[in-house]
Amino acid sequence: MSYWCANKHESRPFFAVDAEIPDEWECPSCGLPAGRDQNNPPKPKRTEPYKSHFAYVKERRTDEDGAALLAEALERLRKRREGE
Ligand SMILES: [Zn+2]
Repeated sequence: MSYWCANKHESRPFFAVDAEIPDEWECPSCGLPAGRDQNNPPKPKRTEPYKSHFAYVKERRTDEDGAALLAEALERLRKRREGE
């Protein structure tokens, strides 16, 4: 009995004869869910890579905003000094 994950790892867990055979099995190679259908493996449930990428983008944006605000503040300071 074989299971395949999205990375095309094949695993053959051993089940007792009277054990209930699960539809999904965690791939021992990469930890992704593996299914009985080789051509249609279950999709990874974890969405953390996407989330952390999104967080990274947000972080970047905040950094840029912060840099812009700082530049603006310096510019104001410079102008004020010139005015004196
Ligand atoms: Zn795998």
